[in-house]
Amino acid sequence: MKPSLIIHGGAWDIPDEAVDACKSGCRLALDAGWSILSRGGSSLDAVEAAILVLEDEPVFDAGFGSHLNLDGRVECDAIVMNGETLRSGAVAAVQRIRNPIRLARAVLEHSPHMMLVAEGAERFAKDHGIDLCAPEDLISEAEREAWRHCSQDTHAAAHHRGHEQGTVGAVALDAHGKLFAATSTGGTCCKLPGRVGDSPLIGCGCYADSAAGGVSCTGYGEAIMKIVMAKTATELLRCAPRSEHSCPVPEKTSGVDVRHSMENVWGTTPCGENFHAMMAAREAVHLLGRRTHATGGLILLDCAGNPGFAFNTPRMAYGYVTPEGAFFTSV
Ligand code: ASP
Repeated sequence: MKPSLIIHGGAWDIPDEAVDACKSGCRLALDAGWSILSRGGSSLDAVEAAILVLEDEPVFDAGFGSHLNLDGRVECDAIVMNGETLRSGAVAAVQRIRNPIRLARAVLEHSPHMMLVAEGAERFAKDHGIDLCAPEDLISEAEREAWRHCSQDTHAAAHHRGHEQGTVGAVALDAHGKLFAATSTGGTCCKLPGRVGDSPLIGCGCYADSAAGGVSCTGYGEAIMKIVMAKTATELLRCAPRSEHSCPVPEKTSGVDVRHSMENVWGTTPCGENFHAMMAAREAVHLLGRRTHATGGLILLDCAGNPGFAFNTPRMAYGYVTPEGAFFTSV
């Protein structure tokens, strides 16, 4: 089976000055994941490697550089899901974990549970050889500064370079047909301590089913939870009509010209199953806007590895590997 990889660095109003950093972060993440997949490695290793890179990049809202909560602390959430077994491993509200995706994987592989939170999750980390860091080690100067402005004034996107969202995610299919999806986030800025959004919740911020596809979401968590967006997109993939003639080609999707973006992937106007990956992404984001009036985006792979993405924010940072093995990134 041909491997496939798609990643994102969040859907938000990315300012011009952050575009290059977002693009280069996406390229590095693709590189980390693809170097594993292209040598026959596993999709679990690939999504973890891609997300480790994104968590370490301060331009994204995950790991180091995450948004601060109302108390001025970082609280991270992460999840990884196995499309074959439908098991996920997730952590939420962890304050002393440099790479939450690593801990989510440990929960998946070494615990009988699917989610651990706060101190219990950190104790599990220690017991499984994952070092705890000082909470301050996750705070970037830019986020500390933004928080300072918010506490002196009121919370405002303007204090965060317009940066209110910037979760990261990855979906990979390996040569053995195994599908994994993963998402990691610092959540929303100035959130109440203890707030958990969609990202680490199975079906909301992430879902994978080898019989349908894998999804990672980003955007306003409280709204994404309402429509269980990752599972909704997965079901749209499952229901995708298999005939290329059964669905009209739209000219525009939310924030994305479908024909244009699909031409980037396949060099032609979309048709057949490739087209339906894109349509499923578009439909899920459309539903988010229609039913909750909120903004967000998602990336996905269908069960054959065809990529799809959509967003209704001004921008989303994302990247995928084309069928020819070239990296495509966009913001
Ligand atoms: N969905 C994330 C949350 O609500 C934020 C984001 O995607 O940037 O926690």
